[in-house]
Amino acid sequence: MAIRGAVQGVGFRPFVFRLAQDLGLKGWVINSATGVFIEAEATERVLREFLRRIETDKPAISFIHSLETLHLDPVGFTTFEIRESSGGEKTALILPDIATCPDCLREVFDPANRRYQYPLTNCTNCGPRFTIIESLPYDRPRTSMKNFVMCEACAREYHDPGDRRFHAQPNACPQCGPELELWDAKGAPLVRKHQALLAAAEAVRAGQVVAVKGLGGFHLLVDARREDVICELRRRKLREEKPFALMFPSYEGVLCYCEASEVERRLLRAPESPIVLLRRLASNDGLAPSIAPRNPYLGAMLPYTPLHHLLMGALGFPVVATSGNLSEEPICIDENEAVRRLGGIADLFLVHNRPILRHVDDSVVREMGGRELVIRRARGFAPLPVYVDRELPTVLAVGAHQKNSISASVHSQVFISQHIGDLENEASYEAFRSVVSAFEALYELRPAAIACDMHPDYTSTQYARASMLPRVAVQHHYAHILSCMAENHLHPPVLGISWDGSGFGPDGTVWGGEILHVTGDGFRRAAHLRPFLLPGGEKAVREPRRCALALLFEVFGQDALSTGMVSARAFSGDELQVLRTMLCQRINSPMTTSVGRLFDGFASLLNLRHRVRFEGQAAMELEFALDGRSVDDAYPFEVHTNGDALVMDWEPAVRAVLTEENVPLSIASARFHNMLVAMGLEVARRTGAQKVLLSGGCFQNRYLTERLISRLQEAGFQPYWHQRVPPNDGGIALGQLMAAAAQLRRE
Ligand SMILES: [Zn+2]
Ligand SMILES: [Zn+2]
Ligand SMILES: [Zn+2]
Repeated sequence: MAIRGAVQGVGFRPFVFRLAQDLGLKGWVINSATGVFIEAEATERVLREFLRRIETDKPAISFIHSLETLHLDPVGFTTFEIRESSGGEKTALILPDIATCPDCLREVFDPANRRYQYPLTNCTNCGPRFTIIESLPYDRPRTSMKNFVMCEACAREYHDPGDRRFHAQPNACPQCGPELELWDAKGAPLVRKHQALLAAAEAVRAGQVVAVKGLGGFHLLVDARREDVICELRRRKLREEKPFALMFPSYEGVLCYCEASEVERRLLRAPESPIVLLRRLASNDGLAPSIAPRNPYLGAMLPYTPLHHLLMGALGFPVVATSGNLSEEPICIDENEAVRRLGGIADLFLVHNRPILRHVDDSVVREMGGRELVIRRARGFAPLPVYVDRELPTVLAVGAHQKNSISASVHSQVFISQHIGDLENEASYEAFRSVVSAFEALYELRPAAIACDMHPDYTSTQYARASMLPRVAVQHHYAHILSCMAENHLHPPVLGISWDGSGFGPDGTVWGGEILHVTGDGFRRAAHLRPFLLPGGEKAVREPRRCALALLFEVFGQDALSTGMVSARAFSGDELQVLRTMLCQRINSPMTTSVGRLFDGFASLLNLRHRVRFEGQAAMELEFALDGRSVDDAYPFEVHTNGDALVMDWEPAVRAVLTEENVPLSIASARFHNMLVAMGLEVARRTGAQKVLLSGGCFQNRYLTERLISRLQEAGFQPYWHQRVPPNDGGIALGQLMAAAAQLRRE
């Protein structure tokens, strides 16, 4: 458990110690530069009581800003102790950017306060950190606030140990701090200060696209109720159907549109203030349909800086708040660059003169198995480390290709960078390189090795190759499982279910439906999906209908191409001719075992989607099709042996889909999901593993993950999944790093 806020030097550790004694908890508490850490063992009920009393009974002058919990396996502590602090490690000092605290918020809306309507205020409990730090130690001259000289009143607060702004490095006020300006589309200033904010709000109200410089980059803001405006934004941003996130004026406002469980409500209001995926109450709620087409979820977030609070307060309705970039490019952080890059997208620019030193996107979370699951790890989380249970050599891991992020180890901490994005273009590769060099500089890294994916064509792999460091190439799905092991403090042997879209397989095929035996020496493939061809390679990823055809071809051979099995809507005659040649002669058609592509294939077989507009769309829609209705039966499948490995064979399912008639999509989708769960369970049974880990992009799917967790538990296995490290490729750098560290230790 990590507790941040004013919890040091206020008797917090003795308080925790006494409380633990009271409740009979075992474990330890420690102070570190990033807050207070507690590891405690007790029954679920006692732990809940412990958490509750930390909130209610804490020392009067302490202030808890965030309280993060992580579920780990019991260690078997016999006492509760206060441990020695881990020293003044420079590396521990970089905190993420934290949402505005209640005290600062009150001041901003208090007409009698000197910071009334001031959009760039903060204190030691909130505000920018990671996005304004040039170098360590964290002092104002080494932040992007260095050119602002504190006025007398601010300086007094800064030097007063009793003040909330004692040593708050970005401390500022309307007299001495940065200020707002509204620019036109060409970058010419129009108005300043609060007038700028009001004019920006007016423009959004009038249906314009306003680019707003926030904490970690620019957002594009538009009225979420206006279909015409959203369509125009999609056109300008070259973003076809990928859902947009919304910012709501208030917590109560979110609940008017979305359902939210206890966990989801906590996440919404957490200091990380992430985008939370919430189920919509109704689709005719007055929001524009194009926000998230055919999607029963909304990505909702609350304002997290005073600027956003003031702006949303002036608007009073939800807005689309999407990253200020062209589709697939990194988010803009500098106002002049923004005018250049977003000139064709935004009508106006609401900017301020506090420089953003590094881009940090909004984080995305979703509830999973009763806990939080971080899907995109960025603002509020980055660059917090994952604590592992052993000392590591210093390693730099450069991640994979999609949803790239990097990581670096220092002692027993692994720092994971903010989300960088798909390394598809020059701009994102540039962002990748700058994050790598920022990490090297901030943490003064001298890595003993560099870890990367095995895929020879990934830009990140090529970067690793070009470096002078010893290089460790790590198999993609093995890295997923190692990442899940590190997060959960697990040691081998484990069984890792690693399902995703694709990753380089050592046998030259495209892996993605792997179940791996992980031992101290590495991994062995315990099971995989029955392989099928991917006609056209990358093109098959954009066209689920090609996966469907490949599944049929695998089962029926050439007959699949000549009969009525392939929906007439899906292919033209010419297209079929080309695909026939590809499949029969295996031209540009790699073999794959990918569960992601199996999702695609079934989405097309079920006539749900034949082409996608963004990666993972078909799988997402198949999940959405579940529609709350659940059935317990599954499509049939077989598990047979092939050499050392088991093969999860989907052929009976394909045959079943072809023969069934008038089955509602929701039922068909449930049967497909249930089949995957049953496959995982069957393999776990046959391998005799105890600890079963779930990692890979497929485990962003809530139904699949939660059902597999509960089925495994019922069958006596111990399932583990991710919490604060993404299950998708955004978390893979952690696993790469662990593999390289293990190899260095062996050498
Ligand atoms: Zn504050
Ligand atoms: Zn001031
Ligand atoms: Zn992956």
